[in-house]
Amino acid sequence: MFSMQQDPLELTKKIIACESVTPSDAGSLKIFADLLSQHGFSCEEINRGQTKNLWAKYGSGAPVFLFAGHVDVVPPGADGWKFPPFVPTEDEGFLYGRGAQDMKTSDACFAAAACEFVSKHPQFKGTIVLLLTSDEEGDGKDGTQYALQVLSDREVAPDFCIVGEPSCTRLLGDTIKNGRRGSLNGKLTVRGIQGHVAYPKKVRNPIHSAAPLLAELSQTVWDEGLPPFPATSFQISNIHAGTGAVNVVPGECVITFNIRYNPKHTAASLEKQIEDMCRKYVWDFKIEWQESASPFFSEKPFFRNELAEAIKDVTGIKPEFSTSGGTSDGRFIRQWCPEVVEFGPVNDRIHKVNERIPTKDIACLSKIYYRILERIFLSEHDGN
Ligand SMILES: [Zn+2]
Repeated sequence: MFSMQQDPLELTKKIIACESVTPSDAGSLKIFADLLSQHGFSCEEINRGQTKNLWAKYGSGAPVFLFAGHVDVVPPGADGWKFPPFVPTEDEGFLYGRGAQDMKTSDACFAAAACEFVSKHPQFKGTIVLLLTSDEEGDGKDGTQYALQVLSDREVAPDFCIVGEPSCTRLLGDTIKNGRRGSLNGKLTVRGIQGHVAYPKKVRNPIHSAAPLLAELSQTVWDEGLPPFPATSFQISNIHAGTGAVNVVPGECVITFNIRYNPKHTAASLEKQIEDMCRKYVWDFKIEWQESASPFFSEKPFFRNELAEAIKDVTGIKPEFSTSGGTSDGRFIRQWCPEVVEFGPVNDRIHKVNERIPTKDIACLSKIYYRILERIFLSEHDGN
């Protein structure tokens, strides 16, 4: 086993020591820029507002390989930390600190791997790029989204991308995320005519008209799934109607719901389908829509299979592919790059107190990131 010139553990500690609560990078991007420039990367800041983004590039031509990550973290939160959250501390086989899993370790590991790779193979054919942002945990508008606006105008789109988000569930290497479901919220207001329950001709009961609509919505099979995505699911989360009095028909009924959907649908197609259903049952309604995340999926199997092999080469573990979990910047990058996956540490303590990572996983993760670079850029030479 090789050892990295730049020790990923030491680099992780330096980055955790930066108090980079969103959108501050607290100096962490300069640490990366200095390291990467020393290894021949050209580095550029793409900043907007308080958010900083670092773009680093080495080499030229295809294939273009992107490592993407964020250096910002969520606030450490209340008491209960065994060690101060911004003082990286090793204890009983773990490294503690805010960002140890989400996702400063990955940032350090892929930067160390990229530096190692370009010093060992300075003449490799292709391009390695890194994109680090300080606003992923916030609204993200000035982070990856903005950087991609700037970059997509002038840079060749990457062929492959690893977002270093913590993807594993139990052991480092057990899970690669190759997509995420979309999430759409709706707030449906069904209007009726309020009045006395004893005079049914003078009222229009919005609960009665909503009832068959809700029955249809809750029984609809939206699709059969789109492997590896599960079937699209619809859930009603709230129903509010009524004045509290037993003799009053209410004037309106408000229903909120959420749909988790796979890429067979778009937010627009679901909105139309549901509004059409509403028209069948209710005479006066409105829906306020809020798309909280669009789905992304990398259909092509080449890159995710190469990454799975790289993980197996280093850990002996055969990873599973998964599309579960919340959102990440992968959904934005996917619009620019055809093959995007997320791969990083175990995610059992993200955003919690006492966030930590097994110390041995740090060197291992960096080796996996190094190995995938070998598989992508050197495979012609060693006949893989
Ligand atoms: Zn994250």
